[in-house]
Amino acid sequence: MKSHNLKLYNTLSRKKENFEAINPPFVGLYVCGPTVYGDAHLGHARPAITFDTVNRYLTHLDYRVRYVRNITDVGHLQGDADEGEDKIAKKAKLEQLEPMEIAQQYTDSYHRDMALLNTWKPNIEPRATGHIPEQIALVEAILKEGFAYVVNGSVYFDVMKYNETNDYGKLSGRDLENLLTGSRTLDGQEEKRNAVDFSLWKNASPEHLMKWESPWGVGFPGWHLECTAMSSKYLGKTFDIHGGGMDLMFPHHECEIAQGNACNHQDPVKYWMHNNMITINGQKMGKSLGNFITLQELFNGDHKLLDQAYSPMTIRYFILTAHYRSTLDFSNDALQAAQKGYKKLINGLRISKLLKYEAGEAEKDEEQIAQVEQIITNAYRAMDDDFNTAQAIGHLFNLLKKINSMYTGQLKSAVFGEEIFKKLIDTFNTFVSDILGLIEEKSDHQNEMLNLLLQLYTEAKTARDYTKVDEIRAGLKEIGFVVKDMKDKIDWAYEE
Ligand code: ZN
Repeated sequence: MKSHNLKLYNTLSRKKENFEAINPPFVGLYVCGPTVYGDAHLGHARPAITFDTVNRYLTHLDYRVRYVRNITDVGHLQGDADEGEDKIAKKAKLEQLEPMEIAQQYTDSYHRDMALLNTWKPNIEPRATGHIPEQIALVEAILKEGFAYVVNGSVYFDVMKYNETNDYGKLSGRDLENLLTGSRTLDGQEEKRNAVDFSLWKNASPEHLMKWESPWGVGFPGWHLECTAMSSKYLGKTFDIHGGGMDLMFPHHECEIAQGNACNHQDPVKYWMHNNMITINGQKMGKSLGNFITLQELFNGDHKLLDQAYSPMTIRYFILTAHYRSTLDFSNDALQAAQKGYKKLINGLRISKLLKYEAGEAEKDEEQIAQVEQIITNAYRAMDDDFNTAQAIGHLFNLLKKINSMYTGQLKSAVFGEEIFKKLIDTFNTFVSDILGLIEEKSDHQNEMLNLLLQLYTEAKTARDYTKVDEIRAGLKEIGFVVKDMKDKIDWAYEE
């Protein structure tokens, strides 16, 4: 492994800790994935890009990351307090489709959008409906330990009982006393001993669409249960990093800690990481506020709040320009600035591949060398400081200044000596492409470019400049196009 001094902020201890993998070089990384009942939106992009960057940086440091991100295709109810319809079943009824058709459709569209954002696929992407036996076994284990109770075919986690020997609320910093006085008794909650209890298994009514046999009757798993069942199955009883949005900290992640401790008597996660939320023009994003923007709408510019389309790499770059624990506000101004920044880095990437080391053109300059070494150290230091991509990008722009100066000839590559020249170019490329995951988006203007060339062709022909005519014809042929020079018009075709 590369030597490093990675520190990350652990939500559980509320401080930055040195990263020590439980079983190096392996790292278990679990991130709560989407509930697949609608198109992916900005709220999905931030955790996906944040933990993709965590995965990329750990991999860069030579860790072997097993990245598990689940697909929630059952059990996530409309209300947060164990009530309301299943989100997927509701959409299925609305569209007159099978719930699994809805889950498939939105899993596919999520994958498409995540690929456009250049996120690495998880190593394992388990589905909640594919892990019903594991979830039933988990409920049985929690019942056996005495931390749950059965009522009318449903099983609830007994938070008060758990709290006698454990600390419920330690992740989110909530106090059980306050939770108890603050929670309302909602319809259908009378089965619970306490309003803070949460369902592990719910009895299904006859009209309920997704349901399974269990020791307690026909029903379906509670939402929090799946993440405990799947993370422990693929990463073990205690694994390295659990990530997700801050909005999942309570109750979802708090319940995962309780479930893990209840059956294994140990904390399920060593480091909890939470990305902060996104706001739009300073407001929280929400369907009712009319500022709910899907990723496809952003990519196409198809939303009343958008002045233009923003490419996936612009979005990725924009998200990385803030530290993941800071809030991030989307506005057209901010996105347009991000688009410029992204293009500057990508131009740097292109130029850096053209630059060659020219020995003997200048004397080595120790000050220039020291500057480059310092910038590189700073870039790594930023990433080692709780994945501070915002600062790392700042340092990359300092490297880019050197690259641009060499490109324009103001600075000779020889001042760095060959080793540092190579290190400069390699570091810039590695950071931009491998660690930050920013890639060149090729422009899609083939027809416009071809028409421009045909116009030059026509002009050359009119001027009887047949050398130029042949040059354009031959050049196009080389890249697979033929000029169709007809009696009354000139066009192009793919070479057959
Ligand atoms: Zn989860």
